Amino acid sequence: MSRVFIALGANLNQPLAQIKAAQAALTKLAHPNQIVHSPLYQSQPMGPADQPCFINGVSMFDTELSPLALLDALQAIEQQQGRVRKVERWGPRTLDLDMLLYGDIIYEDERLTLPHYDMKQRAFVLYPLADLAPDLVLPCGTPLAQLLLSCQADDITQLPSQ
Ligand code: AMP
Repeated sequence: MSRVFIALGANLNQPLAQIKAAQAALTKLAHPNQIVHSPLYQSQPMGPADQPCFINGVSMFDTELSPLALLDALQAIEQQQGRVRKVERWGPRTLDLDMLLYGDIIYEDERLTLPHYDMKQRAFVLYPLADLAPDLVLPCGTPLAQLLLSCQADDITQLPSQ
């Protein structure tokens, strides 16, 4: 059994409902009663600015799935919720699920990089992650609290609890 953290993001087709549906789908991958969802945040889009704001959050759970089986499951949820992969990077999306951490594993192949390659700079990832696990230390030895110190949070707003 491994502890995993998944980042959720959506900015199309009723993003809040998309996030709620994704949280429900993630519950089915988790060891029973072993999932916790962070507060949700609204964030400004990265990349093209002519798109709606994102809703972001992080979910933490224990799972018996292997890392690649979990990636398959996350991509299946994205597909079920109507995501169409486009060439444009950082474009609008119905649902994006990123595997931030899988236990303490450091891993890289053509499909999966662990920890997630961009997580250290993103306020909309680091803040909800810290809501769940403020004392977290990344597999490289860097405390999450240290990353937060150098991360601007101007462009994210925590939403009232849903
Ligand atoms: P994106 O379009 O930003 O969601 O990127 C998805 C691509 O990133 C997929 O092809 C995944 O195979 C790959 N990927 C690599 N590492 C990860 C990770 N830790 N979590 C999710 N997707 C990943």
